[in-house]
Amino acid sequence: MRATQAIIHLENLTFNIHAVKKHIAGSGGGPPVPKICMPVKADAYGHGAVEIAKTALEAGCSHLAVATVDEGAQLRAAGIKAPILLFSEATPEELETVARLNLIPFVSDREYAALYASYAEKAGKNEKHGVFLKVDSGMGRLGCAPEEAAPLAQFISGQKALSLAGTATHCAVSDSRDAGNKAFTARQLAVFKGVIDEIKKCGVNPGIVSAANTGATVSYPQAHFDMVRPGILLYGYQDEEVEPPLAVKPVMELVTQVVHIKKIRKGGTVSYGRTWTAPEDTFIGVLPLGYADGLPRLLSGRDFYVVINGRQYPLAGRICMDQCMINLGATPAVKRYDAVTVFGGEKPAFDAAAIAKRIGTISYEICCGVNKRVPRVYTATPRLS
Ligand SMILES: *Cc1c(COP(=O)(O)O)cnc(C)c1O
Repeated sequence: MRATQAIIHLENLTFNIHAVKKHIAGSGGGPPVPKICMPVKADAYGHGAVEIAKTALEAGCSHLAVATVDEGAQLRAAGIKAPILLFSEATPEELETVARLNLIPFVSDREYAALYASYAEKAGKNEKHGVFLKVDSGMGRLGCAPEEAAPLAQFISGQKALSLAGTATHCAVSDSRDAGNKAFTARQLAVFKGVIDEIKKCGVNPGIVSAANTGATVSYPQAHFDMVRPGILLYGYQDEEVEPPLAVKPVMELVTQVVHIKKIRKGGTVSYGRTWTAPEDTFIGVLPLGYADGLPRLLSGRDFYVVINGRQYPLAGRICMDQCMINLGATPAVKRYDAVTVFGGEKPAFDAAAIAKRIGTISYEICCGVNKRVPRVYTATPRLS
């Protein structure tokens, strides 16, 4: 196996799920405790969907969520029977597969609901196909207008082949501590609560009520309802503004090895563009890790360090497609094939959030950006029998 690997700490995933479970227990003033949906879209935020899904279900998550029909098919092909929510909209040609695989689509309008109902009917077995009604309480993405929700809920529950399995909304700024954003989130949740009451007043059961992404799971107990869907939190991250932060551990650790060491004379330059000049005679370590693996090229020339044998070493020069270089110093303690921590792990110099901050993005993009050619290596977790 190549030196560059993403170690996926399944024990940390289990730890994070238990932390969330504890955090949301009793948020409704007692039982029942809200369910947890594990978002595994984008190959489980880059961690590997099937392994993450299996571990999440063993640790007590009740639902999984994907963004594409193919992602749902991958889970079903792996023998996973748990309910799978489909967050994004499928095309008409995909809806037959949605029905066949029994994915639970998020529905925002009558046309899509009716079209899905026709496929659900054809899939047959006289069995009802669950859908979630999505309400736009302020995200401005998918979802019906709040005043359209109750009639749409009635329409869905009136379809022979459909059942209203749940009603959901999504928060836009729940991870911000800005006062205006806090008020906006509170307003979103109040609007959503009103919609749920209205659906009930029409004599329709809204099913599983769900609103909370990471920020809302941590900071807004009134957002927990029947099920939370924190994604990045379960992978070990939350925006630094989320308060009070929940103690979670990064699941992904990106590692590599020093595969080549060479001496560079004072004044010699390293990598494309000759942006780095050796300030003294020094040793350069070459890592088989580049931007095509997911180490953002924008980190070139920024303060960024990897850890080798407990010590930090800075990047030297531009990150290439498949390789990057680090400055090991004039009298290096590092040997060829020594292990390198890039991010995550026990004592990293950087985690994915810190890397993201350096280049103006978010931890999500760093984790999702670790390319397919980087093997995922899963740590063993104690399996429940
Ligand atoms: C991705 C997503 C989530 C999880 O979001 P995080 O910010 O990772 O917690 C929840 N709900 C929907 C609809 C999503 O698309």
